[in-house]
Amino acid sequence: MRLHIADHPLVAHKLTVLRDRETDSPTFRRLADELVTLLAYEATRDVRTTDVAITTPVGPTTGTRLSSPKPLVVPILRAGLGMLDGMTRLLPTAEVGFLGMIRDEETLQATTYATRLPDDLSGRQCYLLDPMLATGGTLAAAVEYLFARGADDVTALCLLAAPEGVEALRAAVGEDARVQVVTAAVDERLDDNGYIVPGLGDAGDRLYGVV
Ligand code: URA
Repeated sequence: MRLHIADHPLVAHKLTVLRDRETDSPTFRRLADELVTLLAYEATRDVRTTDVAITTPVGPTTGTRLSSPKPLVVPILRAGLGMLDGMTRLLPTAEVGFLGMIRDEETLQATTYATRLPDDLSGRQCYLLDPMLATGGTLAAAVEYLFARGADDVTALCLLAAPEGVEALRAAVGEDARVQVVTAAVDERLDDNGYIVPGLGDAGDRLYGVV
């Protein structure tokens, strides 16, 4: 598994505002959206492309287009939805599937409660969107789900990660180079409730309010 930490002053600036408990939901949503676009730039470095012949107003040249099948972007509901616009802004031709996963707050185990994905993901590059890589259980289950349907490689975009989650995901997928995590930062640790410290709190609640 490959881990990429997007080390950039604009990423650090936006992340700092997201972490601040005084930041309200509208500002949080806007900044999460901007941060995802920056992460998406890093995450799509290996997106597959095909050479294409075009003609500019001055003459012929060879350009680049995204290959088929198109990449599949999969937000993990609910909090991953807050990352979708930022991702598709950069990859407008990608297809979008949905994976509903919920974490039991006592056992911290992830279960799938909804899916809307093509049955056959053969040859697909997939981009999972999940703001918080905490225990790693949800992402490990999501990666396994996509590979079981034939996905070619899976990149997870996370706003924040905990060292425990990174290690748990690595233990689950092994040295499989087809799995990549792109995040803005790896924080100190998880607390007893499975929250990232210092983190930013509950990403779903910060995006959408407490339900
Ligand atoms: N999920 C969140 O929303 N925040 C955390 O810190 C951990 C898991």
